[in-house]
Amino acid sequence: MEKVWVLNFEDYSKVRDVLKEFLLENFSEEFKPGMKVLVKPNLISPRPPEEAVTTHPSILRATLEFLLDLGTKPFVGDSPAFSSFQTVAKVTGVEEVCRRLGVEFGPLDDPVVVNGELFRGIKVSKRVLESDAVVNLPKLKTHSQMVLTLGVKNTFGCVVGLEKSAWHMRAKDYDDFANFLIDVHRLVSPKLTILDGIEGMDGNGPTNGRKRFFGVLVVSRNAFALDEVVCKMVGLNPDYVYTVKHARRRNLVPTYEVIADRFPTFDIELPNTVSPLAKLSRIFAPVFVRVPKIDKGKCVKCGLCEARCPASAIDLHLQRIDYNKCIRCYVCHEVCPHGAILLVRKLFR
Ligand code: SF4
Ligand code: SF4
Repeated sequence: MEKVWVLNFEDYSKVRDVLKEFLLENFSEEFKPGMKVLVKPNLISPRPPEEAVTTHPSILRATLEFLLDLGTKPFVGDSPAFSSFQTVAKVTGVEEVCRRLGVEFGPLDDPVVVNGELFRGIKVSKRVLESDAVVNLPKLKTHSQMVLTLGVKNTFGCVVGLEKSAWHMRAKDYDDFANFLIDVHRLVSPKLTILDGIEGMDGNGPTNGRKRFFGVLVVSRNAFALDEVVCKMVGLNPDYVYTVKHARRRNLVPTYEVIADRFPTFDIELPNTVSPLAKLSRIFAPVFVRVPKIDKGKCVKCGLCEARCPASAIDLHLQRIDYNKCIRCYVCHEVCPHGAILLVRKLFR
């Protein structure tokens, strides 16, 4: 039976010692000297640790110290949603941790085309395929499209660069996209997932929501089980989170036990793209659709949203979005560094 551990923390100050000790006690057997281990934090954008958008550096540090103690060769990588990996590594504190410990770090580029169970032609970084093991370090946040971003969603960063945006277009709807994310996760197949839920985000996550204190690290060999446990922690029916719903349908969630001194529960504010009424009935759903809208007062015309929109629906010259083209993937909202993409209600027929 799989295990999911819930560790409680008041802040990040004790993480380095407590987490390293915990990992040595429970996971030393799975990492052998000389193994190449890819460590994959959530480095979605260049935001400092205190904004709770990316995996906190103290978790990365504890994980790397554990891996180094066992004689493995860790490498820290991700493919940020925008900005260069170097900039993201600097701002998020990853660079400092890696330099201090003498660990290599860099972008997950150099694509190799692989096939998933349901989707073909997925361009995954060569780094992932050449590693002997992957350690997955997601962050607990809401997500405008998938509802939550947890362990399974975090491995999406192993898909190279702009291919990530393109898959929003190739997948025909949110259910399809969730199944794609599950395919990617199974290809990456992390040996260990450590979810940073000490500080996370609710509301319009994953980058422009509300910072929240949850005070937990959730650890498991199996991210499908871990994600389901987190749904219960935040009071959401697991079938309501797309990646969890489809993992359950594909019989990927194993039986598991939860090991916790204390199992905390939280009320979270959902993204405003997720309407409780729309959940009740498909008839109401069209009434409550949220669409992106450019806030002209905040927009600095940096061009990021236009460059990343998989549907070419954004005209920055006119600062307008073509809703006939928009597929409501909310990538523009995710990548805008100025919070200038609003999510507004629009009636669709
Ligand atoms: S909406 Fe945001 S991402 Fe798009 S151009 Fe304006 S500032 Fe840049
Ligand atoms: S406008 Fe925004 S939500 Fe619409 S398709 Fe483009 S990136 Fe996705």
